[in-house]
Amino acid sequence: MHTPAEGLLAHIHSFESFGTVDGPGIRFVVFMQGCPMRCLYCHNPDTWDPAPQAEGGTKASGAGLWSASQMLEEVLKYRSFIRTGGVTCSGGEPLMQAKFVEAFFRLCKAEGLHTCLDTSGVYFNEQVKQTLEQCDLVMLDIKTLDDELHPRLTGHTRQRNQAFLDYLEQSGKTFWVRHVVVPGLNDDTAHLTALATHLKQYHHLECVEILPYHTMGEMKYERMGIPYPLKGVPAMTREQSQSIRDLFGGILKCKVQ
Ligand code: SF4
Repeated sequence: MHTPAEGLLAHIHSFESFGTVDGPGIRFVVFMQGCPMRCLYCHNPDTWDPAPQAEGGTKASGAGLWSASQMLEEVLKYRSFIRTGGVTCSGGEPLMQAKFVEAFFRLCKAEGLHTCLDTSGVYFNEQVKQTLEQCDLVMLDIKTLDDELHPRLTGHTRQRNQAFLDYLEQSGKTFWVRHVVVPGLNDDTAHLTALATHLKQYHHLECVEILPYHTMGEMKYERMGIPYPLKGVPAMTREQSQSIRDLFGGILKCKVQ
């Protein structure tokens, strides 16, 4: 018998009550604080800090400490709008607070809500496996298959991401793969073909979502006083995105955001 982990509080960055890009249908999306990765193209550096101190100024909607049942109460206000979708935990890296996600999703599922986890797969342990049991869908970010590029791109090696991917398949979990494509970094045809071919062996993979690199995060870096790592790298053009979709689409079910 599981209790709803009442005493457990999570650091939340913000939430969005009508999310349309983080999983199927219209969704309540919870953006969680904390991420150990440092992806060069990250457009949410404000989620990196696992436990930000309260500061003055405008706070994002929902920012602060929440229990799973408080968050569920908030979600249920929007129940009729998220009928076609459900609830997504994103971030940051939600598995940095995996126990909370497990408790929160357990409550959501008891209410008949579809649960989706958006993760980089950087954590992979027993707690994560338990949390995955409460996820109807996992969206796993794959940054690159290149062992040499991965640490340069993210600050971490690729092993855990691969172990995570294999575990999703072995455990029969329905999953999507998300892949950010950055001009000059991981957009060459050989790289993309290798990724599509690699992913073809995963039968529980429903869809690959290509996320073309954009520069909208740059202002956040400026505000936070952090040098922007991809200064001068142009956003993907519509034509580039289209040709990537054509390449993936020939091999797998794929959409471009
Ligand atoms: S995993 Fe996501 S939140 Fe973390 S640094 Fe990378 S892009 Fe940013």
